[in-house]
Amino acid sequence: MAALLDRLDATVALSAEERMLLDSVRALARDEIAPKAEEHDRTGEFPRANVEAINALGLNAMFVPEAYGGTPLSYTAYLACVRALSQACAATGIIWATTFHAMKPLIDFGTEEQKRRLLPRIATGGLGALAITEPEAGSDATGMKTRFTPAGDAIVVSGGKIFITNGDVADLYLVFGKWSEIDDSKGAISALILERGTPGLKILRTEDKLGHRASGTAVLAFENCRVPRANLLGAPGTGLRLLLASLNKSRPSVAAHALGIARAAFEDAAAYVNERQQSGRRIIDFQGIQFMLADMAAELALCEAWLWHVGRLVDAGAPDFAVEASVLKLRASDAAMRIATDAVQLYGGYGYCKDYRVERLFRDAKITQIWEGTNQIHRQFIGRSLIER
Ligand SMILES: Cc1cc2nc3c(=O)[nH]c(=O)nc-3n(C[C@H](O)[C@H](O)[C@H](O)COP(=O)(O)OP(=O)(O)OC[C@H]3O[C@@H](n4cnc5c(N)ncnc54)[C@H](O)[C@@H]3O)c2cc1C
Repeated sequence: MAALLDRLDATVALSAEERMLLDSVRALARDEIAPKAEEHDRTGEFPRANVEAINALGLNAMFVPEAYGGTPLSYTAYLACVRALSQACAATGIIWATTFHAMKPLIDFGTEEQKRRLLPRIATGGLGALAITEPEAGSDATGMKTRFTPAGDAIVVSGGKIFITNGDVADLYLVFGKWSEIDDSKGAISALILERGTPGLKILRTEDKLGHRASGTAVLAFENCRVPRANLLGAPGTGLRLLLASLNKSRPSVAAHALGIARAAFEDAAAYVNERQQSGRRIIDFQGIQFMLADMAAELALCEAWLWHVGRLVDAGAPDFAVEASVLKLRASDAAMRIATDAVQLYGGYGYCKDYRVERLFRDAKITQIWEGTNQIHRQFIGRSLIER
C-alpha cells in the first residue's frame, strides 16, 4: 500500500526544481522537525527552530511574487510542502501555512505600494496571522463587531478576535472588521493589515488546547489601534468578497495539513500491525485488521488524489473552485479524524498512551474538522450548491 501512495505522489505535477525543493522539505521534516514534535507537544513551546529552518530553506518565498522578494512556485508544490511538514509536526505545519492564508489576500488584492512595502518581510521569513473569528462570530463571520473608523489618514481599529493562530507571534495581521460609516452587516466588512507593535494591539492570552499545542492560538484586543489608511486592503466594504476568495485558497491548504496527519497515522498503523503479534500471529493476518487498514488506505488514496486535482485547478487558473475546495476540506479532515482514530484502535492500549505518536495525531486531527469552516458548514455549502434554481 505504501507503494500505491508513493506511486500517486510520483504523478503529482511538479517541475524538477519543485521536486528538488520538496525533497529538501521532506529531509528537513524527517531529520529535524519530526524528532522534536513530541517534545513540542508536551511542552507547548513555540517551535522557533523549526520556523528558522523553514526560513533557511526560503520556503515563504515560494508563494510571494518575484517583484516583492519571492521565488514563486506552483500552488501544487505549496500543498505538497504543507503536507510534508504537517506529517512531521502538525503544529509546525499550520504555523507555516497560516502565513500563506493570511498573506494570500494581500498578494491577490493589495496595491502595488502595499505589496512593495509589506511583502518583502514575509518573503524573508515573517509570520502572518489571519484574524476573522470573534466571540459572537464563528461559523457566521458576518456577525463580527470589530470596528474600523476612518480618522484622517488613519483607521482606528477597536474590538477583538479569538482563536487566532500565530496571533502571539505574527509580524503582520490580516484583520477583518466593519467600516463604521457603512450601515450594512455584510456590506460593511473590510480588511486591513495591522503590523506587529501597533500601539493598542494586546495579546490577552493563548489557549490551552487538545492538540497543536505548540502552535499559539491567541485572544487579541484592539484598543483604538491607529492603522495607516494605506494598509486598507481594497475599498471599504469589499472585505466579504476578499474573505471568500481567500478561503478558497486556504481550504485546500488546511486539507493538505489534515492529510499530513492522516498519512502519518496510516504509516504508523500499517507498520505496527505488521509487527504486533497476538495468538501467535501478526495481527495483520487477521481479516478484521486487514479490512480496517484497507478502508484507511482507500480513503487516504482518494483524498490525496482529490488534493492534487484541486491543486491542478488552481494552477490552471480555474475561475471558480469553491465547491471543489469545500469537498476537499470536508473529506480530508473527516479522513484524518477517522484514520487517526483507527490508528489508535489498531495500537490497542498502547495507542492510548503518549509513548506512541498516534495518541498525538488523534488529538491533532480533531481541529481539522472545526477550523476553516466547520464540516457542518461545508456540508451545508456543498448541499446548497446542488439546489437547482
Ligand atoms: C485551534 C484553533 C485555531 C483557529 N485559528 C483561527 C485563525 O487563525 N483565524 C480565525 O479567524 N479563526 C480561527 N479559529 C476559529 C475557527 O475557525 C472557529 O472556531 C470555527 O469557524 C467555528 O466557530 P465557533 O468556534 O464560533 O463555533 P460555532 O460557529 O459557534 O459553532 C458551534 C457548532 O454549531 C455548528 N453550526 C454553526 N452554524 C451552523 C449551521 N448554520 N448549520 C449547522 N451547524 C452549524 C458548528 O458546526 C459547530 O458544530 C481557530 C479555532 C481553533 C480552535
